[in-house]
Amino acid sequence: MDVNKILDILAETYPQAACALEHRNAFELLIATILSAQCTDVRVNQITRRLFARAATPEDMVALGQDKLRELIRGCGLYNTKAANILAACRVLLDKHGGRVPGRREDLEALPGVGRKTANVVLSNAFGVPAIAVDTHVFRVANRIGLSNASNPRQTEEQLMAVIPRERWSHAHHLLIFHGRNLCKARKPLCGECPLAPHCKYGLERKDAASGAHGGSRTARKHKGRLAAAKERGKQHG
Ligand code: SF4
Repeated sequence: MDVNKILDILAETYPQAACALEHRNAFELLIATILSAQCTDVRVNQITRRLFARAATPEDMVALGQDKLRELIRGCGLYNTKAANILAACRVLLDKHGGRVPGRREDLEALPGVGRKTANVVLSNAFGVPAIAVDTHVFRVANRIGLSNASNPRQTEEQLMAVIPRERWSHAHHLLIFHGRNLCKARKPLCGECPLAPHCKYGLERKDAASGAHGGSRTARKHKGRLAAAKERGKQHG
């Protein structure tokens, strides 16, 4: 399996692939990522636009207080827990890190509400540290393609780091998420439209992809068509 080829195809399909959570700095990204648990990025962005207009620093957030914060983030689910975690994390930032988000994994993971996935998102997007945050899309898509065969996100991360060149880790995370949202959907992957079908373990097991993989020039035409269609879809749903 040529992992660079797979990533090249995804990069061509989703040239806009990047962090979908709106943020202006590491603090806003940290808060947005905490809020994104079991919530769509679109909804998180709607909430953070309002939230950051009121509170854009740890001091502001603590000053808001639990009740006001809960009210502002109510639309994103688990808001009681998220409000408590955000306030506790902001207090740690103020007490231990001078009000700034630390750029070390151990410090990030010590913050309330911050696990390995959130730390990876912040490290890679705010600090430029290569990392692969494994969410539900990355976990599913990597397993289907055959880049991993893991039973949990941590194992997926390890396996992806072993096969993907380090300099491509962070971007690979975004590409796999975009692909999971657009074509390699959870319930019904659209393999017939997927430009990765000739390279994907799951896709090759399906009849249409398997026949396409041996079809010579027909395969090339089919692949071009899939790539064009997938790019168009990626533009619409990116
Ligand atoms: S061929 Fe199907 S399973 Fe494989 S990446 Fe494409 S959509 Fe997902």
